[in-house]
Amino acid sequence: MAEKKRLLATVLTFALLFAGAAIEPSPSASQPELRRFEFVQAHMGTQFRIVLYARDAETAARASAAAFERIARLDATMSDYRETSELMVACKQAAHNWVHTSRDLFGVLARSQQIARQSAGAFDVTVGPVVRLWRRARRMNELPDAKKLAAARRLVGYRRLRLDARRHRVRLEKAGMLIDLGGIAKGYAADAALAVLKDYGIRSALVAAGGDIVTGDAPPGSAGWTVAVRGLNSADEAKMIHLRLANAAVSTSGDAEQFVEINGVRYSHIVDPRTGRALTGRRSVTVVAPRGWAADALATAASVLDAARAQRLIDRTRGAAAHIEQMRGDRLAVSESRRWRSVPQVSPK
Ligand code: ADP
Ligand code: MG
Repeated sequence: MAEKKRLLATVLTFALLFAGAAIEPSPSASQPELRRFEFVQAHMGTQFRIVLYARDAETAARASAAAFERIARLDATMSDYRETSELMVACKQAAHNWVHTSRDLFGVLARSQQIARQSAGAFDVTVGPVVRLWRRARRMNELPDAKKLAAARRLVGYRRLRLDARRHRVRLEKAGMLIDLGGIAKGYAADAALAVLKDYGIRSALVAAGGDIVTGDAPPGSAGWTVAVRGLNSADEAKMIHLRLANAAVSTSGDAEQFVEINGVRYSHIVDPRTGRALTGRRSVTVVAPRGWAADALATAASVLDAARAQRLIDRTRGAAAHIEQMRGDRLAVSESRRWRSVPQVSPK
């Protein structure tokens, strides 16, 4: 955890920016005046930001504190940086052995397996052993040892992670397997935080975990939350796409934030589970989906697949849309999924 935080502190910049988009500034007569509040806390190696509309500061503070608490508990459950997390303890016990898990851990594993099947293993939470080697590579600035990488690869494969839905149990088919929820946990936690806010009666809210953003109802008097998607031409504000979202999630994955350069090659923190190699192409993937966990995992999966396959995966997934930017030589190639056109955008002024 501490290690990840340090890493992020040096390399993290937000891929997505957001702001409430007010088109009718006056609140409607039927609604009491709502005020905008914003809170930030560090969890899961990133900044979680909550923006919400509430009647008073006390409600806003209580609701956001409960939402952050929920995120902190999920971090303690799903972290692979803490040896004592439920996930890490389960990984140790589950080799050839059915282990009972909490509702949240089972829920996130079941969703992970769903995306793994849909993406034919491009998204695969059993990548843990391989990811560890690449994390070390980033730290040491040298490529992983080929033999170690080959051994780690043999432990990867989502089919070797077995789930018993009736009794919420998990089992690993090889000793040494390691599960890494880094590609889905932030989206899942953002969903959970939004649900907590709803329990407190707050409906207009946004939860952002770095590049993973989940929105509830639109800010009062507006059509949605404006979210700026920063692609590969990140510095150029005019070239950003401004989405207008309500009750939807958006995630961006790419090499803009976490990568290491060794011998002139950029290696991403996303690995191809089928080869064990860290991704090297320059690419930025933005996925809109009904839920944060889905947008998060699909963005990771779409980073691994070639653009055509990625867009087929997105087109097959209900409610999902994607925008992919990729460097081909020094040319920027852009591709959009079928539904991307129907994602509301703020019209350029
Ligand atoms: P970010 O953390 O920037 O939001 P992602 O959501 O794409 O990025 O998640 C990347 C993380 O997911 C990696 O740091 C690693 O922990 C894990 N991971 C890497 N490759 C894969 C993969 N192919 N499938 C599932 N998880 C992965
Ligand atoms: Mg992801």
